[in-house]
Amino acid sequence: MDKQQEFVLRTLEERDIRFVRLWFTDVLGFLKSVAVAPAELEQAFDEGIGFDGSAIEGFARVHESDMIAKPDPSTFQILPWRAEAPGTARMFCDILMPDGSPSFADPRYVLKRALARTSDLGFTFYTHPEIEFFLLKDKPVDGSRPTPADNSGYFDHTPQNVGMDFRRQAITMLESMGISVEFSHHEGAPGQQEIDLRYADALSTADNIMTFRLVMKQVALEQGVQATFMPKPFSEHPGSGMHTHLSLFEGDRNAFYESGAEYQLSKVGRSFIAGLLRHAAEISAVTNQWVNSYKRIWGGAERTAGAGGEAPSYICWGHNNRSALVRVPMYKPGKTGSARVEVRSLDSGTNPYLAYALLLAAGLKGIEEGYELPPGAEDDVWALSDAERRALGIEPLPQNLGEALTLMERSDLAAETLGEHVFDFFLRNKKQEWEEYRSEVTAFELRKNLPVL
Ligand code: GLU
Ligand code: MG
Ligand code: MG
Repeated sequence: MDKQQEFVLRTLEERDIRFVRLWFTDVLGFLKSVAVAPAELEQAFDEGIGFDGSAIEGFARVHESDMIAKPDPSTFQILPWRAEAPGTARMFCDILMPDGSPSFADPRYVLKRALARTSDLGFTFYTHPEIEFFLLKDKPVDGSRPTPADNSGYFDHTPQNVGMDFRRQAITMLESMGISVEFSHHEGAPGQQEIDLRYADALSTADNIMTFRLVMKQVALEQGVQATFMPKPFSEHPGSGMHTHLSLFEGDRNAFYESGAEYQLSKVGRSFIAGLLRHAAEISAVTNQWVNSYKRIWGGAERTAGAGGEAPSYICWGHNNRSALVRVPMYKPGKTGSARVEVRSLDSGTNPYLAYALLLAAGLKGIEEGYELPPGAEDDVWALSDAERRALGIEPLPQNLGEALTLMERSDLAAETLGEHVFDFFLRNKKQEWEEYRSEVTAFELRKNLPVL
């Protein structure tokens, strides 16, 4: 038994933990959990815990349903909302096949594979997500319009604002689970919050995002509201993005940084961005995986009815340009040696393991193939006409999930990075969602057509 495993077993005793939840994530990004008694853990560390994978979205076909969850002791944390003794703790798991080999259905393994390739190339990959979400008064189940939990706006600081108490409690809980928070504020829409996590390696970030979603829902319940990560719950308000800042390191050195270069961006940084842009459309079905995601990533910043509100809609990059898909944030004097890129397409409903694996693969492809970075878009891309954008070679992101899936289906990069199993399952599942949506006659059509046709 290694040191981390010993630490977990000792802590269980010292803290009187009676339940250990083993967490993993299905292909669509939903958290799954199986609880084991502490007495079983030694064996779980050795061999893992068997479960029926056929019941989990995207995991197995029925005839090969036996799967094994093997806890990763480095992710051990006590759940603060179950603090009273006997307590409850959790660990993230790797999913294995009965023969002990990693399961190709496990999103965590998809990201681990991409990270292994990254380290073969001599890099480590860091990420820092800005997570936006809504607090609602209640969660309507019948498809009716939700009500935001407050009426505040961007950076508002008002007394007795639900969001403020909420953020304080939520951040305290995250920090007690070892998840550091960098910024938090009220976002632009009523009820909308943003919490930004501190830089971490991409696997920890993805695990942290899964924890984050659960913690937000938990704290919301305690405060009598509901948290939702739905990308665009309101037609007339901005949606919830999960902008993520990315950087590659070579040892201690930021590989995106080059002193004196334009925007302090190294050749590695430039090719990485070029890869993100060239492959953005074909990985969009994963970074923006719901029918609803595409209601966010179109239109301009002016927040006209239905538009995305500072969400990107065009495939281009810019220096401090918020309309661009990839933004190179302003260089901070005094922060010598630091450079990063912000990808703004991701929404809060994405599976972070799969999305980060694909962004990384796209960027690495740019580096390996030496892609040239097209000129940055310094104009407000939203304000240009279609013809002007075309002249600049700026394409829109896919307009809907159907278009995104067609592009993904043809993508070698997506197939290779996700692996055949996840790639096929994902396409099958999402095509079904798209078809269900297409077949639905909506309130919009009835409103527009019935009175006049
Ligand atoms: N809510 C916007 C989005 O959907 C982003 C606003 C911001 O710039 O933080 O991407
Ligand atoms: Mg924001
Ligand atoms: Mg941002």
